[in-house]
Amino acid sequence: MPGYELFGAAERKEVNDVLETGILMRYGFDGPRQGIWKAKELEAEICKTFGAGYTQLVSSGTAALTTAMAALGIGAGDEVIMPTFTFVASIEAVLSVGAIPVPVDIDETLTLDPKAVEAAITSRTKAVMPVHMCGSMAQLDELKAICAEHKLLLLEDACQAIGATYKGKHLGTIGDAGTLSFDFVKIITCAEGGAVLTNKESTYEKCDQYSDHGHDHKGKDRGADLHPYLGYNYRISELHAAVGLAQVRRLAEFLALQRKNHSIIHNALKGIDGVTFRVIPDPAGDTGSFLSFFLPTEELTKEVVAAFQAAGIAGNFYWYDNNWHYIRKWKHLQSGSWMHRFYDEQKKQVMHYSNQAFPQSDAIMGRCISSAISLIWTEEQAKERGAGMAAIIKNVLAKAAHPVG
Ligand SMILES: *Cc1c(COP(=O)(O)O)cnc(C)c1O
Repeated sequence: MPGYELFGAAERKEVNDVLETGILMRYGFDGPRQGIWKAKELEAEICKTFGAGYTQLVSSGTAALTTAMAALGIGAGDEVIMPTFTFVASIEAVLSVGAIPVPVDIDETLTLDPKAVEAAITSRTKAVMPVHMCGSMAQLDELKAICAEHKLLLLEDACQAIGATYKGKHLGTIGDAGTLSFDFVKIITCAEGGAVLTNKESTYEKCDQYSDHGHDHKGKDRGADLHPYLGYNYRISELHAAVGLAQVRRLAEFLALQRKNHSIIHNALKGIDGVTFRVIPDPAGDTGSFLSFFLPTEELTKEVVAAFQAAGIAGNFYWYDNNWHYIRKWKHLQSGSWMHRFYDEQKKQVMHYSNQAFPQSDAIMGRCISSAISLIWTEEQAKERGAGMAAIIKNVLAKAAHPVG
């Protein structure tokens, strides 16, 4: 999964270009920077690599989501439909613009069940936000049709699926806007950073302004810029952009390694009776950053997770018990634990929606294991890992089929 595993000479070279001039900021200082514009260069590289019309870099994936929502006009009291399985950052971003996250059930794609999305639409719904979890994609045709029918915005959280495609198009470029994250454990990294992708010039312009205190960036003198809108500071630095530039140029290399190792683990597990795999709407577009699979029951899944751990096979995520990725453990949201006061209406709505029961999601997440795929395994290591996992799963399932005593 993570690009940090192959950090090297290319990344150091790009950072050194910036260190040579000492201009660490992405805007201004036209003379002293001697033609070094890493953030601008990275934005152009992302547009080219992903086939996006426009790209705005920001300081994190969370900032990218917040910026995209502001630019799309999502705000006070608007409801944003999103999956119960995500990273808590997607919720934080919705709250940051005063909107209401409305979690709905996932299906075996591990993201939005289109039927659950339709059932959750109200007169206040403004956007649908699929989260392309664990390197793979949502059912975008179905979601696009729902958005078109109900006149809703489609905002893709593609933070975990950099390089994945759906029917030939990169995730993040299919909705009204999409976001990427380059935090340290993502498919490509620059330590901390993110991007908003969009094909609409006016949305891009708003992102450009929002992420830099509202600067319109029309002139040469920052001090004389106008501020047509209120903004915040979500700027990326030149140092971060430099690392990102080296990494995005290596994306194809990372994806090839990932897919190769993914297929080795997949081959080791696919014949096992009782093991099924995550439904992938367009298998050709999967990044291979995780292999996600299901066992027959929650109890057996927990046994397998414990046995992997006991055998020292790391990197197998059981999201159902995870504090950060599944709604079940988000007590802070459910109890309205905010440091600062929220408007009563927003707080009431957030607590109402996050305290719903999600039996369909529970039944899926309780049986799911996501196995992270490394870029640096040798073929032998990957095969050994796959064989070890397969032996453990078969053993647990056989014991359950023929209990002793
Ligand atoms: C990582 C991630 C984010 C946020 O990215 P940061 O750069 O860590 O702020 C948002 N959504 C999802 C699904 C993520 O995995």
